[in-house]
Amino acid sequence: MRTLFLSHPRYRDHLAPDNHPEQPGRIVAIERQLEGESFQNLIRDMARPVTDAEIQRVHPAAYVDHIRIQAPHDGLMSISRDTILSNGTYEAARLAAGAACLAVDEVMTGLVDNAFSAARPPGHHASARQAMGFCFFNHAAIAARHAQAEHGAERVAIVDFDVHHGNGTQNIFYSDETVFYASIHQQHLFPGTGEASETGVAGNILNVPLAAGANGAAVLEAMTNTILPAVTAFHPDLLVLSAGFDAHYRDPLGDLNLVEADYAVLTRAVMDVADRVCGGRVVSLLEGGYDLDALGLSAAAHVSALMGH
Ligand SMILES: [Zn+2]
Repeated sequence: MRTLFLSHPRYRDHLAPDNHPEQPGRIVAIERQLEGESFQNLIRDMARPVTDAEIQRVHPAAYVDHIRIQAPHDGLMSISRDTILSNGTYEAARLAAGAACLAVDEVMTGLVDNAFSAARPPGHHASARQAMGFCFFNHAAIAARHAQAEHGAERVAIVDFDVHHGNGTQNIFYSDETVFYASIHQQHLFPGTGEASETGVAGNILNVPLAAGANGAAVLEAMTNTILPAVTAFHPDLLVLSAGFDAHYRDPLGDLNLVEADYAVLTRAVMDVADRVCGGRVVSLLEGGYDLDALGLSAAAHVSALMGH
């Protein structure tokens, strides 16, 4: 399997206070786990910045400018309670969004079979006009729109297994029957959305909230029995993954109990469906994951599965 891995050194320039979970070391932790011999066939490339046209398919120009202008020259600036800008944030966020588009380009044109973008800041809590939950631009939404605008994709499915509900992605596509958004997450955790009753205007939203303490078997059951049959019925042309690894039992922000090997099993289940419905096209985008060791090992298990191991 030809698997593309995208990252960029500038992701480290998006700074946060010392005690903030969304820290530069997250990308380093992932890259360190991908140094081994079993990853030598990974196709590695650098992210490129998102263009104005690409980002404005999701975020109005005035909102993008607002983020750019708010970023301080020195120090840190809080845009909401826990969502913090430093001098390098805007460039990092534009690279993270651009990486999502680059991954879509390479997967949709068949240059690679699938792709994983290890980017920060994350994206799935960002709505069209609101930054929150460590997120500024919604990379999964930008990827879906890019596939539709540039590659003739009619329908895109976004599957989100981050421990938190991707409220931003749900908001953006709530009234859009061409995009299916499905999420497995811990119930009643931040941001508080993602009840099963939230189904979108055309049944294009599917939420499976799990009680705190649920383990990998419960997540896999929700994926294989509920999420993936719905994805199959939707017949997407591309499958985008919002790949957060904060459902790991060691993660400080969530109370689900996955182990790193569960991410390989989940990934293979998603890939089996992608093989059947969309030529195996999977674009995976990093969301959360805040225990550095658990994040590195879980992301490595995910990438290893994407590579067909
Ligand atoms: Zn999360």
